Amino acid sequence: MPITVVGSIAYDAVKTPFGERERMLGGAAVHFALAASFFEEVRVVGPVGDDFGESQLEVMRRRGVDVSDIERVTGGKTFFWRGEYGWDLNSRETLDTQLGVFEGFQPKLSQRSRESDVLFLANIVPDLQIEVREQLPDARFVALDSMNLWIDIARDQLVKAIESVDCLILNDAELRQLTGKPNLVSAARDVLAWGTQGSGSARDGSAAGRRGPSVIVAKQGEYGAALVTREGFFALPAYPLETVIDPTGAGDTFAGGFVGYIAAHPDQGLSGDLLHRAMAHGTALASFNVEEFGTERIERLSGEEIVARVQQLSEMTHFNGAPLKLRG
Ligand code: AMP
Repeated sequence: MPITVVGSIAYDAVKTPFGERERMLGGAAVHFALAASFFEEVRVVGPVGDDFGESQLEVMRRRGVDVSDIERVTGGKTFFWRGEYGWDLNSRETLDTQLGVFEGFQPKLSQRSRESDVLFLANIVPDLQIEVREQLPDARFVALDSMNLWIDIARDQLVKAIESVDCLILNDAELRQLTGKPNLVSAARDVLAWGTQGSGSARDGSAAGRRGPSVIVAKQGEYGAALVTREGFFALPAYPLETVIDPTGAGDTFAGGFVGYIAAHPDQGLSGDLLHRAMAHGTALASFNVEEFGTERIERLSGEEIVARVQQLSEMTHFNGAPLKLRG
């Protein structure tokens, strides 16, 4: 089922211990769309300036991404982000963020984008996420990502946006920051209790008539990702790579694999099995993303490579849980 995504479409300047790029294609919506395009048709909504190149649009088109709702703002500048990573790639400093054309942007979604069954509100100012959410009131599955910047400067609006979705995908530390809970599981449980009673339809059968997140994914960088629902907990490590070149966009690429897999299996509800497989596909996609700068690796990724890596992940995370005799 087609997916609509709104979020940053960007030029990124990135420096890692392994090299740098001064102006590469980036943005949360772009990383998400390229990853999700392996599963479903993706429609990207957002503005770019007239500095945005045709070749960047072509990167998305080549993966079958519908770019017709990417609006070119005459005289405007494309969203720009500059970041630098520490020696082990675990720490990242944002050196510059220029919203450019996103400032004051009013999303105008085509009929096609409004008809998508699945919506991903990628990282961008929460007011914009809310506006787009309101334009797809009947979407079957809506997920949202955000970041510390918006928790710091627009927390109330972000909470409102989160209350309107089915799934929250956030960095581990940001989930703790958002809820003020130092423990990951209790932080996730807090968010599972958000939302409104009585409006919308029950999607997980556990709380009739309730709207609000029923799936929480905490991204943990090189340690993988954890999934918390009202029914249980699941976690996967990151795929073990010997060489990581640039982690930029790993989270959005994970989200593209995760949400893309869910969109491609509408008949399976939000069962535990489906969510676990979606986690594996998100993890596999993210691992390819970090092998090279920006979108470089995903641009020439094949479906066969994804299938093989998911298989390897499955093998390396299975173990025999047969009871062992303990002393005492
Ligand atoms: P990730 O590494 O998954 O956190 O995503 C990095 C991507 O997010 C980059 O391509 C940036 O262009 C984009 N980005 C960085 N800061 C922001 C922001 N404040 N709002 C929206 N997108 C952002």
